[in-house]
Amino acid sequence: MKLDFDNADECFRRDVSQWLSDNLSGEFECIRGRGGPGDEHMFIEERKAWERKLYQGGWTCIGWPKEYGGKAASIVQQVIFNEEYARAGGPGRIGHIGETLIGPTLIAYGSEQQKRRYLAGILTGTEFWCQGYSEPNAGSDLANVHTKAKFDDETGQWLISGQKVWTSLAHESHYCFVVARTDPKSVGQKGLGFFLVNMEQPEVDVRPIAQMTSTSEFNEVFFDDAVCSSDDLVGQCGDGWTIAMSLLGFERGISTLGQQMLFTNEFNDIVNAARANGSADDPIIRQRISDAYIGLKIMRYNSMRMLSDSNVDGDLSKEAMCYKLYWASWHRNLGKLAMDVLGPEAEILLDSPYQLTQLQSMYLFSRSDTIYGGTNQIQRNIIAERALGMPKEPRG
Ligand SMILES: Cc1cc2nc3c(=O)[nH]c(=O)nc-3n(C[C@H](O)[C@H](O)[C@H](O)COP(=O)(O)OP(=O)(O)OC[C@H]3O[C@@H](n4cnc5c(N)ncnc54)[C@H](O)[C@@H]3O)c2cc1C
Repeated sequence: MKLDFDNADECFRRDVSQWLSDNLSGEFECIRGRGGPGDEHMFIEERKAWERKLYQGGWTCIGWPKEYGGKAASIVQQVIFNEEYARAGGPGRIGHIGETLIGPTLIAYGSEQQKRRYLAGILTGTEFWCQGYSEPNAGSDLANVHTKAKFDDETGQWLISGQKVWTSLAHESHYCFVVARTDPKSVGQKGLGFFLVNMEQPEVDVRPIAQMTSTSEFNEVFFDDAVCSSDDLVGQCGDGWTIAMSLLGFERGISTLGQQMLFTNEFNDIVNAARANGSADDPIIRQRISDAYIGLKIMRYNSMRMLSDSNVDGDLSKEAMCYKLYWASWHRNLGKLAMDVLGPEAEILLDSPYQLTQLQSMYLFSRSDTIYGGTNQIQRNIIAERALGMPKEPRG
């Protein structure tokens, strides 16, 4: 197990930290620590400008191969970057779906034309993406997708019709990657396609969903014969499932590995609040704070263990499958702890519309951690089947 970062890694850490301290200031001072969970609606234009600033500094898409504008940074370096980013109070990344999900997917499965057309916009922080997977009856059971893609022989284009739901940042996105059924007679994982759909057309209707955080990070998206060029089908018609699953691997892996520093910031805020209002003297609260601290350390050492895997520059190890389950439950409990530290009045809001403090937003948003990116139950199925080799769950 690798317990320390080596000299080259520490050098890289200093570069990241120096750049952030030089640049996350002036016009960007206002977005320090903003735009995280429950706060995604804040400072949108400033955060888009920040994406372009990151690009100018060479800090977007660092894990991508050099030929596509990345730094070919190792997983270790990507984690260091994320750690330093959170330590410096780097704002929530509007470009993260492009950078960590569709970008790597296009690099792996996209045509040369698709790579040329789309990767540059992600890299430069000028084009943003959303994920069109979930539907009213296709969440955990993603293979139950009903959105249709029909090939129009006359125009040589695909026409996409159907409804997606819980589509994060759809209202800020230029493109959506959509899993849709190309064979109307097919069921389950067969007969699916993976499409790159332009959101800026009248046939796409984005409707915000009001969340209990009083914001609308996600949306319903309706496609009514939305046009998609034949060049924007990734892979072949029947490849949709394989590509969609590969993308979820990216979602459950690297992109969550560096978030511990963000959690550390939240943990410190809770400890400060407990000190300030005296609840730090309560033995039960003290015990829960120390449990949370132990959880942070467990996540830290678990990620070190994953990084020390012999295959660190390739796929993440099987242990990584446990990570989503662990951090999601830990973070949900941290939200509860924050509320108990703040006391009963933290749960009473008199104004309408209401303004939440960052800890209140964190608490409410943390309820979703055990749902998105694979629910806890699905995560347990994945661990049982893929990590432990147990029999597959019975399916009807
Ligand atoms: C904040 C947030 C952001 C999101 N952003 C996006 C996005 O950008 N794009 C997108 O496509 N989706 C997004 N989602 C949707 C998310 O991926 C789904 O909510 C998730 O996959 C669960 O699906 P579901 O909500 O349909 O619940 P269901 O699948 O209906 O599950 C309901 C319950 O049944 C359990 N369950 C279901 N099947 C099984 C099983 N086989 N074994 C055991 N238990 C089971 C589940 O664990 C859960 O507890 C987002 C969700 C949230 C909360």
